[in-house]
Amino acid sequence: MKRQFFTAMSGLKVRRAGIFCCLVLLVVGFTCFYSRYLTSLPSALNLPMASFRVSTPIINTLNFRARPVVVTRTSWKAPIMWEGMFDPNHYDQMYIKNQTSVAVTVFAVGRYLDAYLKTFLTSAEKHLMLGLQVTYYVFTDLPENVTNIKLAPNRNLKVIKVEKHGRWQDISMMRMKTISDAIESEIRHHCRYVFCFDVDQEFKGRFGSEALGDSVALLHAWFYKLPNNTFTYDRNPKSKAFMQAGDYYYHAAIFGGLSENVKNLTDYCYSSIMEDKLNNVEALWHDESHLNKYFWLHKPSRLLSPEYCWDPHIINNSDIKVTRLIWAPKNYKALRMR
Ligand code: UDP
Ligand code: MN
Repeated sequence: MKRQFFTAMSGLKVRRAGIFCCLVLLVVGFTCFYSRYLTSLPSALNLPMASFRVSTPIINTLNFRARPVVVTRTSWKAPIMWEGMFDPNHYDQMYIKNQTSVAVTVFAVGRYLDAYLKTFLTSAEKHLMLGLQVTYYVFTDLPENVTNIKLAPNRNLKVIKVEKHGRWQDISMMRMKTISDAIESEIRHHCRYVFCFDVDQEFKGRFGSEALGDSVALLHAWFYKLPNNTFTYDRNPKSKAFMQAGDYYYHAAIFGGLSENVKNLTDYCYSSIMEDKLNNVEALWHDESHLNKYFWLHKPSRLLSPEYCWDPHIINNSDIKVTRLIWAPKNYKALRMR
């Protein structure tokens, strides 16, 4: 009697355990299926992302087939952002809801202040990360000459005085040290992301939250289509920026990411620049050469297509569906420190 009872009970337990295991397997299976297939459905079926409104990891909403003529993903699976691949509203909703804060650093030293800063800032107010909490950090040797720009709510501007290095190469390179110090002392306490811009550019179209990522690099307008043996990496083995091979040529006019990542990048570039100085060498394209070396060793998680920084001197390029930011005319002779 007792034995029968125990046999019946253990049979029951086995059945219950069996049902429980089946349930667990079902849940696990559905979760895997959901994350593997359903979230990438719009991209797989080539549907507009807006037609698929579930709380999907945002990376899975990118439509990598939207632009068949250009490369939309790196070999390490980082997206290369081109017009048509993303739903801007989807991105904005998420980043605005999360009250995402972005520091925008820009240097306007010497004659670059009068020549470019006002256009940079006023055009950024029309197109750059609208709706997000943006703080501009303007670094200049002439704080009193920074004109007042009317900023939208949630947007601030801080002016920080910097020394004026004698050579334009040093003005450009030493930005790495200044940005690193500013992240350490100030930015990291207020902003999740940092984006660093050259000042000699003008926003012309949306430059939105889709550009945000852990570590973001920009494809150079002149090189994005060329084979990598044409890239102007530093080829001097004596320089820390020396590169024999690489995958892309990145333009130093824009880089960004999470503040801790931008801090690592700027620290790396600054220490390489200083080591070169001790060895009496200078990389071919200064900070840009070191930046390319950094991104070769530490792959960016997101690349911006040249739609995000276009040179209007390049005409008739059907790859460029929208110019979000363009190079301003350069007048090195009149503007650069000598
Ligand atoms: N810069 C500056 N004053 C100078 C030289 C450079 O403020 O005299 C800053 C400015 O932000 C500029 C950036 O450093 O956009 C990089 O220099 P530049 O734009 O001349 O380099 P390029 O775009 O030709 O590589
Ligand atoms: Mn520039």
